[in-house]
Amino acid sequence: MNNTILIIEDERRISEWIRIYLERSGYKAESSFDGQSGLVMARSLKPDLILLDLMLPRLNGMELCRILRMETDVPIIMLTSKGAKEDRISGLEGGADDYIVKPFDPDELVVRVKAVLRRSGGSVQNILTCGILSLNRDTSRVFLNDKEINLSHAQCAILSVFLHHPNIILTRNQLIEQAFDNNFEAYERAIDTHIRRLRKVINQEDFKPIQTIYGAGYKLVCP
Ligand code: CA
Repeated sequence: MNNTILIIEDERRISEWIRIYLERSGYKAESSFDGQSGLVMARSLKPDLILLDLMLPRLNGMELCRILRMETDVPIIMLTSKGAKEDRISGLEGGADDYIVKPFDPDELVVRVKAVLRRSGGSVQNILTCGILSLNRDTSRVFLNDKEINLSHAQCAILSVFLHHPNIILTRNQLIEQAFDNNFEAYERAIDTHIRRLRKVINQEDFKPIQTIYGAGYKLVCP
C-alpha cells in the first residue's frame, strides 16, 4: 500500500531531496516545479497528500491551496520559509493541514507526513485488499503486487463490490445492482464479459481469485 505524495516545489534540489526521503519511507512521490503544473498534476494524479511550497512561479502556493480546497479534501502540508509567521498563519487559514519551516530535517518531514495521513484517516482504511490485489477507494487505483494496473470504470466498480464481499457468492444481479446502482442496462452477458476482462488483467499463475459458481454467480476467494 503506497500513498502517493505530490511535491510542488520550484527548487529542484529541495524537491529531489524530499522525494528521496519519501521514497525511502515507502511512499510514492511525484514532483511538480511550478504552481500551474502543480494544480494540473494534483487534479490528474489525485495524490494522498500534497507538499506545497509557498513561493512558487506561475501560481503561488497560497492561491493554489485555496483552489485545491474548493475541489478536494486532500491533506496539504505547506513548506514555508523561516520566520514568515504570517505566511504560516494564512497558510493554515487558507486550508493547509500543517506547515513545516525551511530548512527542515527530512526525518521530521516524514513524521509530519505520516501524522497528517493518519489524521486524514482516508487512505489507510480506504484500501481494500485480497491477497496481492488492492484497491484504493479514494483514488480508484488498483494495484497488483504493488504495481498499478489499469481497469475500466466498469471493471473497477465490479472489483470494488467483490472486495467488499470477499468469500461470498454474489449473483449476477447483485453485482449489477451494487456496481452500477441499477442504472446500468446490463444483461447477464455484459457482466460476464466484464468479469472475463477483469480476470484477464488480474489473474496470475497462482492467483485466480474470481471463481465462477455454477448456477449461482461469482465469488472472490481471498486468503
Ligand atoms: Ca519556492
